[in-house]
Amino acid sequence: MKFQDYYEILGVKRDASIDEIKKAYRKLAMKWHPDRHTGDDRAAAEEKFKRINEAKEVLTDPEKRAKYDKFGQHWEHGQDFRPPQGGGWQTMNPEEFESIFGGGGFSDFFASMFGDDMRTRYGGARARRARQARGADVNAELRLTISDAIEGGKREFGLGTVQACATCGGSGELGDHVCPSCAGMGRVRGHKTVELKVPKDVRDGMVLRLRGLGEAGQGGGETGDLYLTIRLQGDANYRREGADIFADVPVAPWEAQEGAKVDIRTLEGTVTLNVPAGTKSGQHLRLKGLGLSHEQGGRGDLYAVIRLAMPEDPSDKQQELIKQLKESGPKEVKGGARR
Ligand SMILES: [Zn+2]
Repeated sequence: MKFQDYYEILGVKRDASIDEIKKAYRKLAMKWHPDRHTGDDRAAAEEKFKRINEAKEVLTDPEKRAKYDKFGQHWEHGQDFRPPQGGGWQTMNPEEFESIFGGGGFSDFFASMFGDDMRTRYGGARARRARQARGADVNAELRLTISDAIEGGKREFGLGTVQACATCGGSGELGDHVCPSCAGMGRVRGHKTVELKVPKDVRDGMVLRLRGLGEAGQGGGETGDLYLTIRLQGDANYRREGADIFADVPVAPWEAQEGAKVDIRTLEGTVTLNVPAGTKSGQHLRLKGLGLSHEQGGRGDLYAVIRLAMPEDPSDKQQELIKQLKESGPKEVKGGARR
């Protein structure tokens, strides 16, 4: 268990007045109130909110504060802490404890200082009475390159999440005791790997609802869902400009010279591109409506950007013919940035 420096948690000096402590508390409580945080941030905010409340409860109560001060002077925040034996410092009575804490969520440190017995009895009773609550839905974004989207198949991605506590199975209790792994919350922060099958009709900005991949519920409640927004981004072969895609399409010199039909891969599957005779390298051939979705609706276009290329392993004969090509006519090539 870690030592909790309540002064540090509230950001106040050790000799701060009760008013100063309350003021610091209000500011932090507003900032970290769980209702003001969503998605990945929420669990962290809940945790922080609980610690802030715990710190305020101790530091604004002169009796508890005196006890804490006497004890805490040799400790630093986050240090591993082992409570002294004997339990001779349990001063709060159960009613007082319950009136302060309306449920689980106090730290192990607090419980060991002000009475694990109370925490077990009251925290446990609270946990048993706890209402079931469905876990929160989670929003996340997944970036896919256009090449990956066209290729399809499965993609794995990592996701920070709030999941049911494995120690207590999400009940918050172990026998008659509060579960030490989750402090009675039944849920812990974690990380999971999600496997997604890229949908055939994948679109930029598409939102996929993945059932049961949101935050774990409370008290055995249903797990929330994951809303995954797909973001398609350009790559070496498919560059994007707004909703338009510029795709490199290599063609052989004879295809450009004589014209050809060339199969290319698009988000809509394989499409045959008509390369007219006399097409030049760098020329853009437009395929209407084969780009990405516009936010306002409709689709951008795909531009096939022609690149002259030779087969990867030209035969001896082809290499010989290139030499002949060079010898057999004008050698000067002009255009573009070339002088
Ligand atoms: Zn647990």
